[in-house]
Amino acid sequence: MTKPSCPACTLEDVLSHSDHWECATCGHEWPKAAAPEAARVVKDAHGNVLADGDTVALIKDLKVGGGSQVLKQGTKAKNIRLVDGDHEIDCRIDGSAMALKACFVKKA
Ligand SMILES: [Zn+2]
Repeated sequence: MTKPSCPACTLEDVLSHSDHWECATCGHEWPKAAAPEAARVVKDAHGNVLADGDTVALIKDLKVGGGSQVLKQGTKAKNIRLVDGDHEIDCRIDGSAMALKACFVKKA
């Protein structure tokens, strides 16, 4: 989270507390705004917007599980679920739960 500037004095020496900001310069305190519920857009390698329930295919071989297993290019994952985090796609491939990066798949 980037620090905001103080709404009272506009200076940027702002202290972060768990649920509010405090301006170190003038002492003004204000609540941290809840993260806006902006619809998260996850796009595949070609810029197509992905949605829950889509089927995607890998565009390259991917090592998983520390490299002990390789998912081949073209492997499909059905009924994906979009999640927050570094790997945006939760899915099952061959019965195993997988987390994939959207940049390595294309909508099938
Ligand atoms: Zn201030």
